[in-house]
Amino acid sequence: MNEEKFGIVILGPPGSGKGTQARCLSSLFRLKHIDVGRELRRVAEEKTSLGLHINTLIYKEKVLVPDDLVLKILQNAFEPISFFSGVILDGAPRHKDQIQSIEHFLQQLGVPILCALSIRVDETLLVERIKNRYFCPRCISFYINGIDIQDATKDLCPKCRYPLERRKDDTAEGVKKRLEIFSKETQLVIEEYRKQKRLIEIDGEDEPDIVCSLAHKELLKMIQEKYANKNTA
Ligand SMILES: [Zn+2]
Repeated sequence: MNEEKFGIVILGPPGSGKGTQARCLSSLFRLKHIDVGRELRRVAEEKTSLGLHINTLIYKEKVLVPDDLVLKILQNAFEPISFFSGVILDGAPRHKDQIQSIEHFLQQLGVPILCALSIRVDETLLVERIKNRYFCPRCISFYINGIDIQDATKDLCPKCRYPLERRKDDTAEGVKKRLEIFSKETQLVIEEYRKQKRLIEIDGEDEPDIVCSLAHKELLKMIQEKYANKNTA
């Protein structure tokens, strides 16, 4: 049995449910889920010079964090991964120029990226989801107010009974900006993986469980193909 580690990049616009899918797939494939955005937001709350710098970039200037800082954050989030079969990378690469540096970085750590998984959702549905999105900071579960939960401003997390919060940039303006960045930058990342025939595309409008089992099936196919090619090479 092959024990090589591998990485999967998960791509999708804000509100596509990619965090939920990353968590589902990480447990199915025993992968470490690295959420670069969450790591950045966590560091942005620290009163260090790095924290203050990242805080300004994401909340005041609302721009993409430069590559060297992303790699630094990745490196910190990476260890230890010896218990895992690999990683699922959520939130990077965010633009085309970042692909090579991130692939190279993971390759060196012995976790080459197998493929990218792109989750597609119609834009009007995305805006609707994000406008009503709440999350539990303790167990990191996301809820859509009025659908998953009656009143997110009063009710506690159904899983762990903790008060729910909104993401700081889940405002109309923040969402617009993130969707813009996505269609301008991340779409090119998707196209690049498509060109390299390392892209899996999944419709993300269904129930999360259905989306996850679809993604699981497609990833298994991709893994089998890779090993089949290797054995005949
Ligand atoms: Zn919770």
